[in-house]
Amino acid sequence: MELNSKVPPGPIAEKWTNYRSKVPLVAPQNKRKLDVIVVGSGLAGASAAASLGELGYNVQCFTFHDSPRRAHSIAAQGGINAAKNYANDGDSVFRLFYDTVKGGDYRAREGNVYRMAEVSVDIIDQCVAQGVPFAREYGGLLENRSFGGVQVSRTFYARGQTGQQLLIGAYSALSRQISLGTVKMYNRHEMMDVVIVDGKARGIIVRNLVTGQLERYSAHCVVLATGGYGNVYYLSTNAMGCNVSAAWKAVKKGALMANPCFTQIHPTCIPVSGEYQSKLTLMSESLRNDGRVWVPKNVDDVMAIRNRTKKATDIPESDRDYYLERMYPAFANLVPRDVASRAAKKVCDEGRGVNATGLAVYLDFDAAIDRYGKSQANTKGIHNPNAATIRSLGEAVISEKYGNLFEMYEKIVGDDPYKTPMMIYPAIHYTMGGLWVDYNLETNLPGLFALGECNFSDHGANRLGASALMQGLADGYFILPYTIGAFLSNEIRTPSIKTTSPEFDQAENDVKDRIQHLLTIQGSQSVESLHRQLGKIMWDYCGMARTKEGLMYARQEIRKLRDTFWKEVYVPGTADEFNPELDKANRVADFMELGEMMIVDALNRNESCGGHFREEYQDAEGEALRQDEEFAYAAAWEWNDSDMILSKEPLKFEYVELKSRSYK
Ligand SMILES: Cc1cc2nc3c(=O)[nH]c(=O)nc-3n(C[C@H](O)[C@H](O)[C@H](O)COP(=O)(O)OP(=O)(O)OC[C@H]3O[C@@H](n4cnc5c(N)ncnc54)[C@H](O)[C@@H]3O)c2cc1C
Repeated sequence: MELNSKVPPGPIAEKWTNYRSKVPLVAPQNKRKLDVIVVGSGLAGASAAASLGELGYNVQCFTFHDSPRRAHSIAAQGGINAAKNYANDGDSVFRLFYDTVKGGDYRAREGNVYRMAEVSVDIIDQCVAQGVPFAREYGGLLENRSFGGVQVSRTFYARGQTGQQLLIGAYSALSRQISLGTVKMYNRHEMMDVVIVDGKARGIIVRNLVTGQLERYSAHCVVLATGGYGNVYYLSTNAMGCNVSAAWKAVKKGALMANPCFTQIHPTCIPVSGEYQSKLTLMSESLRNDGRVWVPKNVDDVMAIRNRTKKATDIPESDRDYYLERMYPAFANLVPRDVASRAAKKVCDEGRGVNATGLAVYLDFDAAIDRYGKSQANTKGIHNPNAATIRSLGEAVISEKYGNLFEMYEKIVGDDPYKTPMMIYPAIHYTMGGLWVDYNLETNLPGLFALGECNFSDHGANRLGASALMQGLADGYFILPYTIGAFLSNEIRTPSIKTTSPEFDQAENDVKDRIQHLLTIQGSQSVESLHRQLGKIMWDYCGMARTKEGLMYARQEIRKLRDTFWKEVYVPGTADEFNPELDKANRVADFMELGEMMIVDALNRNESCGGHFREEYQDAEGEALRQDEEFAYAAAWEWNDSDMILSKEPLKFEYVELKSRSYK
């Protein structure tokens, strides 16, 4: 299929300004006649629904949560990037653009990334105006911190609750529109299918999760802002409800899924502790601003720690391997996530992992506590402070910056991270892949848009920290409100779409049949156990490292598991009641298909880039080896049960030179 990215011509710094000035507008009286469906009320969906409502469109917004405020975006901790250069350390729109393209290992579209960097500046103003309580410095300016993969401080934050505070901001904007009547909000409603009429997305089939009733909604276009699919791995840092189903229904109707194998593994999570765990907890990347990552140099010390005859604090400085500082002196503990994750895997593979499973490294705040303590003592005029004073002053600074994260760690692990280093290990965290979209954020299905983590845009093969919130809000507040005009300006003569057409009948019947099928199997395996088996295959063969043989084996295993699912799954209850197990079964069934597509994509990509590390493609030092000649493209897949079909969008790099990524 020919993929037209629709990136406007002209110099990169002028593309968006020119586009915005020329994109067809919809007059206010016509906006009132146009209906838009937004599925999802996370940062991307809530900001889009609020902005479109404010513009005057008739918006219907859906979430399967009991409130828009429960979207997974609430979990984001560390911060949101913007090229404001408040730290006066040389940041600029171009530098944010450059870092993002490089960080994504040169697998993102330049035009989109530049635009995101450009509007990042407005996002912060918008959020401050909404009252988002960003951290401030003594002088009242907004404070910044650093995240991995960059050498400037451009991350705005609200302690460890940035996502929550931003979502409250977006939710208040949304609530305002709900009260004005421009947005009608549907909580606890799950989109089960998208309806295509005459080649355009014109509606959705929805299940009321409380009553089980199927309902039809129509609009002139449909916007999906339904988040990422990291839960395909079962164990992840994602909220338990995150799933791929809405995007997958679009794929089943012909939308393309781009770069599905690009998943992000976050280096800073609490390690897995047991077989029956279903959730992993992220310790924010912001902690790597101050925490130093290490493992013991000697395996004897590792064994002593595992046997509990030694503690981390018993290992002297000279016997510690601060491996990120050793391997990547230029970026040290702030290397990007893919690099830090692989380095942790490497030292654990060498047998130097510090917990019982051998899959953990230390994140240590001792040096930071000491440094901050001394500087605080100086500020307060305390001369020759003793060690206890330094510690307590230093701990107070750390508590101010990361207090809630430290409390969370202590609650989960039972150790006090002020006194002993945290243990961390990489875990599945974010999905860079998603529905293929053009510059308008429109999929290849006309009238179907995708925003936020749901689309494949902007992060290439690896996302830099604090960039997902930036992208979601850029899409919702500042990009879609313009680009949707390119489609809707041609629809002003289209009357309201009827929900009685054969296309709606067909879609609703398909949903009904699938639900009945799931309920009648009455097999012997729970949805949870089948999901766990899928996750294990994905993590073992399509996780931190991938090989051709492993992926080929995994593909067969997933196909077998999918057969088992459809023969053996046990879904209790009925369709016409509150039935979370049925909801979950529907989503896991989709993961079974998506998992195979991810594997097919990983098999196709004979190179290593970002989060996709094929062991066959590494340089002498074990770093990812891209194959730009062959693979500088976005891989956009059509679902086909027997063999998936690949379309390629070639990526051109005119402003960022393609070179090997080095953080050394
Ligand atoms: C623990 C954690 C911490 C993070 N910290 C940061 C950070 O500090 N900085 C950063 O930039 N990024 C961070 N991220 C990533 C970031 O939080 C997400 O990428 C981002 O919030 C996704 O926003 P979204 O609006 O695209 O999707 P979501 O917030 O996931 O929202 C999806 C919405 O879609 C709805 N939905 C989904 N499917 C359906 C359906 N079928 N029918 C109806 N509704 C549906 C859901 O109900 C929800 O409202 C973090 C991620 C995790 C897991």
